[in-house]
Amino acid sequence: MEIFGVKIPGDLMIVILAILGILGGIKYLTWRFKMSAFYWIYHTIRKALKEEPLEEMDFKEYRMDDDIQKIDENFDKADFLKTVENVLRQYCKAMSENEHRLLLSFETPNLFQRHKGQIEYNKKAQIKDVHKLQEFLGAKFVQVKMEQNKLVVEARANMFRYKLNKNGSLLSGSQSDLRKLIYQMIFVKQAGQKEVDERVNCPNCGAPHEVHSAGICQYCGTMIVTLKDNWLLDDLKQM
Ligand SMILES: [Zn+2]
Repeated sequence: MEIFGVKIPGDLMIVILAILGILGGIKYLTWRFKMSAFYWIYHTIRKALKEEPLEEMDFKEYRMDDDIQKIDENFDKADFLKTVENVLRQYCKAMSENEHRLLLSFETPNLFQRHKGQIEYNKKAQIKDVHKLQEFLGAKFVQVKMEQNKLVVEARANMFRYKLNKNGSLLSGSQSDLRKLIYQMIFVKQAGQKEVDERVNCPNCGAPHEVHSAGICQYCGTMIVTLKDNWLLDDLKQM
């Protein structure tokens, strides 16, 4: 046989026609399948299997928001997460500089005593436990403990972690190894509807600072981190 001047042996022509026939057959069967009720069932099941986990996640997220609202009806998620960053930065600063007073404005008395103890120990031993926060990578809510008025938040940051002795020599950790660290932070909303009227003294100059005013000391400019609406940091640990 000759097509466009090219001679094709009869056997090869049969093979080519057979392949074309099979492909055409498959295409026809696929088309028939897509037009049938079986395809509709197959497609529906596939879709359901694919989308189920996603719907479940949305539902969970919704429930968490709902629960937070039950603890604090004025809760502002974005604003709170921004404060979480400031809290972590201030914690790192307090630990690095052995300055426990920086923690007073946002920690519960229990946590403050724990951190104060650690810092006083380091001060006595003339150790600097450096938490150098290089880059804050974000925070998210992971759990709401409604019966305790608690919110569990996970924060991630790239940090350098090391300890220095009084001569500035390295005791442990690394000054060059940037590590991605995860912190679990638990916040608690203090019971009662009373308006917070405490004053916290500026950790730098000692001037009284109102909890509700902006986070900068009006006398010396030191940043003072506070949480709104009776929220306090109750626990912080590296995961
Ligand atoms: Zn001040």
